Amino acid sequence: MDDARLTRYARHILLDEFGIEGQERLLAAHALIVGAGGLGSPAALYLAAAGVGRITLVDDDIVELSNLQRQILHDMAGLGRPKAESGRDALRALNPDVQVRALVERLDETRLRERVLDADVVLDCSDNFATRHAINRACVAARKPLVSGAAIKFSGQVSVYDLRDETAPCYHCLFPESDDVEELRCATTGVLGPLVGMVGSVQAAEAIKVITGMGETLVGRLLSVDALRMQWHTIRFRRDPDCPACARRAPAAAASPGG
Ligand SMILES: [Zn+2]
Repeated sequence: MDDARLTRYARHILLDEFGIEGQERLLAAHALIVGAGGLGSPAALYLAAAGVGRITLVDDDIVELSNLQRQILHDMAGLGRPKAESGRDALRALNPDVQVRALVERLDETRLRERVLDADVVLDCSDNFATRHAINRACVAARKPLVSGAAIKFSGQVSVYDLRDETAPCYHCLFPESDDVEELRCATTGVLGPLVGMVGSVQAAEAIKVITGMGETLVGRLLSVDALRMQWHTIRFRRDPDCPACARRAPAAAASPGG
């Protein structure tokens, strides 16, 4: 590692759990971030600042004035530009050490599966159930760790679905897909700006832990925050053996032949 990197990442390298080894893992890693909005903004900024070597930022939306109340990846100069491209430029300005790829598209099921294959960690920073479930299915199929966050009004939630692990639950185990779920959208209900910062930052921290192997991630735990009262809660959950999304999970790549 050269001097510039040793200096840039010194405060991480100083951590015993992190060290140069942890930093090198980050530099070699690829994070796929779906959504460059409220959650994707802090998640992408922290991962770029931390030196995650490759970041793919996916969003088909454009930057609007009403986004700037919380989507800190974008600024006035980005108004009218695709969020993925505005975000890419912000990340490059922050850390030219990181290769950032902007995808201005809404990934369909097939494209998602292709994109996920190439990632070491996937961050779901999207804003709707259909996309969340599609990302989950892609991560189950490719056995990739998924860090999923959500925030609406004053409520936030985040968890990790480490699908490299045979016994870990998937997103669908916790949030079964159904037609009668009433979907709340920030556009119609509002959301506290710093709340998405809190949730997106937790996602970045969990992604760094997934990549480096430090500590314990939120696997099997849903972390919730009520920002109006500023109370955090954790509930535990297990894999649903009958989950239609993951019950017939492909065997681990590292499993023995025939296992
Ligand atoms: Zn499942």
